[in-house]
This record gives sequence, structure tokens and C-alpha cells, in this order.
Amino acid sequence: MPGPMGGGGRVGRGYLTEEEKKNAPKITPELLKRVFSYLKPYWKQMLLVICAIFVSSTFSLLPSVLTGRIIDEGLIGQNMGALIRLILLSLGVTLAANLIGVLESYLNTWIAQHITCDMRNKMFAHLQKMSQSFFTANNQGDIITRMTSDIDGVRTVITNTFSSILSNAITLIVAVVIMFQANWVLALVGILIIPLFVIPTRRAGKTRWNLTREAQAANDEINGILNETLSVSGQLLVKLFGKEEEEYQKYAKANEKMVRLNIKESMAGRWFRVVITTFSSIGPMLLYLVGGILMMQFDSDLTVGDITIMVALLGRMYGPVNQLLNMQVEWIRSMASFTRIFEYYDMPIEIENAPDAVIPKTATGEVGFSHVAFSYNKERQILKDINFELKSGHSIAIVGPSGSGKSTLINLIPRLYDVDEGSVTFEGIDVRKLDLAWLRSQVGIVSQETYLFNGTIRENLLYAKADATEEELVEALKKANVYELIEKQAEGLDARVGNRGLKLSGGEKQRISIARILLKNPALLIFDEATSALDSISEYKIQEAIEPLIASRTSILIAHRLSTILAADEILVVKDGEIVERGQHDKLVKAGGVYTELYQTQFAKALENERERAEELWDGTIIDDSDY
Ligand code: ATP
Repeated sequence: MPGPMGGGGRVGRGYLTEEEKKNAPKITPELLKRVFSYLKPYWKQMLLVICAIFVSSTFSLLPSVLTGRIIDEGLIGQNMGALIRLILLSLGVTLAANLIGVLESYLNTWIAQHITCDMRNKMFAHLQKMSQSFFTANNQGDIITRMTSDIDGVRTVITNTFSSILSNAITLIVAVVIMFQANWVLALVGILIIPLFVIPTRRAGKTRWNLTREAQAANDEINGILNETLSVSGQLLVKLFGKEEEEYQKYAKANEKMVRLNIKESMAGRWFRVVITTFSSIGPMLLYLVGGILMMQFDSDLTVGDITIMVALLGRMYGPVNQLLNMQVEWIRSMASFTRIFEYYDMPIEIENAPDAVIPKTATGEVGFSHVAFSYNKERQILKDINFELKSGHSIAIVGPSGSGKSTLINLIPRLYDVDEGSVTFEGIDVRKLDLAWLRSQVGIVSQETYLFNGTIRENLLYAKADATEEELVEALKKANVYELIEKQAEGLDARVGNRGLKLSGGEKQRISIARILLKNPALLIFDEATSALDSISEYKIQEAIEPLIASRTSILIAHRLSTILAADEILVVKDGEIVERGQHDKLVKAGGVYTELYQTQFAKALENERERAEELWDGTIIDDSDY
């Protein structure tokens, strides 16, 4: 006979925390309809599961009934043949119930895995379409939690909650029907006993759960004190302010509180067991008593076997009743998982392909900004009235203080964000009217923070052009001035980068990403020069790789070094989100404005450093000074 513990044994899972209560979703018909829409494609398999649950739940109750007959017909009736037959039948039924249970588990797992796989794919596809602002506004951890824990929550609902509700309900109904058929008086007594057991068990469980949580909180408090006072700087503070005694008293008090709570919790656990064992033995005893009275006083035709069936079935009912009571909590948790997932599904896709999106025949990389205004959020305008044109084959350098909006400006071209006002054109067409995939294929950005996937160099390069030949890869790496580095690796192009592979410097990563852009071969090249100091060799090599590129295609350079600025046809000076000056270096340097200031504070100094370091490293022979 399975213990009456059922759900009661899992103290803690059966109750909602205050936070869960606060965030409990409103279960509306719409929500249920939506949840069931995910189950619908698998209705045939679910029907099979329901049948399997029905049969296995009913079969699992039969041994209890057969026990009664074993006693009456086999033992009391002293019929050996019947005894063996009934024993074998009982064993057979148990085996059959378990085998059907296996089939049920398989089907359940299969359905749950397929449904969650569908949901994960849908979520991933949806997230990929979200604009860049979604990823900057949301914590990566939260996004991953929705993809993993919440979808896992959904899996649990399908594998456990649904089938549990069904099998427990069926077990209860079948047990009640059998009990009433055997003897209605005993059945009634049995049913009335159940709340007598369930209510105190749940009360005791809740008390214990509250104490566990209190003890946990006290433990957290102690850990907090330890972390604060036993750290290097914490101790320094304690010592310098002479707070040793005060801190000790604080610690001792928290410690004492925890001891009290731990003892209380442990004793509550003990009392909990007393409650359970007492109440679960009251049930059978009452049935024996009432059964005995009926048999002896009222001359009922009740048999010993009948009473045994009742007791056995009663034992089988505690678990399902408890679990069904806990189901409400599981149900709320499950619905909360669904709601959180739906919340993501419902987030609008901000940047979408226009229904009549066009793909121009040619791509020259021409860009135009006309009265562009942009802000990430309402509070602060980042770009204001930006106007410029970049002709095919030309290059523009954007310079300006940190945080002035340079990166924001270029992010508007491949539509990582959309403008608030004005328009950005590519090939003379508003980017919002262009096919998004095409537009992005024509714009290549070498960003400051170069991202290489955790894979081989080859895989990283093929990301830009899946069908590139070995020669093309080598040529791109050579042009990007990084082939030497690859050549030195024993595995060559198949050397891994990232966690378990090559540790690449910022400059090396940027050169590999230049090679990647070369393979992509975009009409417009955007180069966001690293602000952080690279070593002279890296800087020189990047410069050497990027200059021919700039010369041969339409490009925008966010520049921090004079050599890069000088390579451009026009310079735009951005300050506080506005273009404040524009023109050529010579003119701007003399204008006495922002550019002059930048030149004096940043470029000239950087130039000096560059020269000095280069001279040291290269013995003054390699760098061509003519650019300066
Ligand atoms: P740097 O030279 O340091 O790279 P930048 O000129 O490229 O700076 P941007 O990165 O365009 O400057 O940033 C412009 C302003 O917009 C900054 O004040 C920055 O804090 C803010 N900003 C950038 N990205 C976001 C974002 N995703 N959400 C909100 N504000 C942002």
C-alpha cells in the first residue's frame, strides 16, 4: 500500500511563495485556449495517453480488490485453486498496469518534447527578429531563462501536471465507485475520513514550510554578515572604526536566531510525521470498527475481504487527494511559465521587412542621411538633424568625442534601429523600403568589439561566405594582414578561437573580422576603429589592411587615428549628436573648432605616440611617413 504521504511528502512544492502569489497569472479562457493550441497538433497521441492513463489507473486498483477476494474465496473459503488463480491474476494485473505505465510515460515524454521543441524554435525565431534595442534593454540572463527554465516549466506541465491530474482523478473516481459497490456505508465512512487526514497534514506541512523559509532567510543573513565583515575591505573598515564588538554581537545574535529556527524546524518535521502516521492509521481503524459493527451488530453480509478492500482502497486514495490539492499550485506555476513565454511571443517585431520591399539591381554603397533624428528612449535625444551624403567610391570619416553618437549613426544604415525622424537612404532608397536581408548583405561593419564565434578560424570566416574556397579564405586573410598568424598555428585555418583555443588579441580579432568582411564583399564598408590602445604592430597591420579597402570601395570610418582620418574624402565632426563641422583636414584644423581641439588633444598626441612606438619597434624603416 503506497504511503499516504503523496504530495504531502514534498513539503515546499505544495505552497506558493508570496512572490509567486503576487505574480500568479490570471487564468482566462483565452490563455487556456492558447495553451491548448500548442497541444492540438498532438491530439492523437494525447488521446492514446488518456486511454493508457485510464487503463493503468484502473488496473493499478485491481490488486486491492483482488486482495479481498483472496481473503474471502482463497483463505477463508480454503479454495487452493482460487487462491493461486487470484494471486496470479493480481500479479498479472500489476504487471500490465506497469507496462501500460511505461507506454504512457513514453508517449507523454514524446509529446512534451515535441511541444517544447516547437515552442523553443518559435521563440528562437522570434528573438532573432527582435531589434537590437531589445537585446540592449533586456538582460541576457532573462532571455536565456525564458528559453530554458520557462520552456522547461511547460515540459513539466505536460509530462507531469496534466497526466497527474488525469491519473489521480481517474484513480479517485474508480476507487470511489468500487467502494460504493462493495458497501455504501463503509464507502461513506472512508470518504468522510479523508478530509480528516488531509487538512491536518496540509496545515502541518505549511507550518514546516514557513519555518524552513525562515531558517533559510536567517542563514542568508548570516552569510551576508560574513561576506561583509570578513572581506579585506570590510575588515579594514571594522578595524579602523573599532567595530569588532558590535559586529560580533550582530553575528552572535543572528547565529542564535538560526539555532532556534533550526531546532523548531527539525521538531516541526518530527511532529509532521506524527500527524501523518496518526491520521493515516485512524482511517483503517475506523473502517475496521465500522465494518466490525456492521458485521456483528447489524448482521450485514459484509465479508472480511470487503473490509480489506475498503482499507486498501482508502490507502490508495490519500496520495491522489493530496496530489490533486497540490495541483492547484503546480497549475499556477505552469500557467505562469506559459504566460512568461507568451509575453515574449507577443512582443512586437519593431524592424520588419516592408511588404513591398525592393531589391535594387545594383549596389554601389551610396548612403544618404536627411534630417535624421534618433533616440534610444524618450528621455534623451541622441542624434539631431543629421544630413550628409556618401557617393559611390568615396569615403567619410566620422570623428567626435566619446558618446557623441558615432556608432549610433552607423547602426541606422543596416537598420539595427530605425530613425525617429527624417530618413536614411541606401542606393537612393529609404532603408525601410529595402529588403532587409539584401540591405544587410550589402553593408559590412568591422566593429570595435569584434565578435568571433567559439569555433575554428575557418568556421568564423565561412560565416560570411559559406561556399568560399580555400584560396579565397587565404587571400582574405592575407589582405587582412593576419595570414602569418594563422600560418604559425599547427592546425592552420582549423585552429579554434575562443575559450579552448587561440587567445587572440583585440587587434588580431579585428584583422580576422576584416578578413570576414572581405569575404562578405559588401558594397558599403563601415569601419569602427578601436578606441582602446592597440600595440603598434597591431595598429600598423590593421592600418595596412584597411587602407586599400577604403580606397577601393564606398566606406564610412569612425576614426580615432589621424592616419585613418586622412585616408577619407570628407570628415564629419559629430558632437552631442549633431554634425558640427565638416570638410577636409587642412581646413578643419585651422577652423579653431571642435576638430582643432580634437586634433590637439587626441590625434596629434596619438600620432606622436604612434610614431615613437613605431620607430622603436620597426627601427624607423617600415612605416611610410608620407601619410602624416
Ligand atoms: P564611442 O566613441 O565611445 O564609441 P560613440 O560616439 O560611438 O562613442 P554611441 O555609442 O553612439 O557613441 O552612443 C551615443 C550615446 O547613446 C551615448 O551617450 C550612449 O550612452 C547612448 N547609448 C548607446 N547605446 C545605447 C542603448 N542601446 N540604449 C540607450 N542608450 C544608448
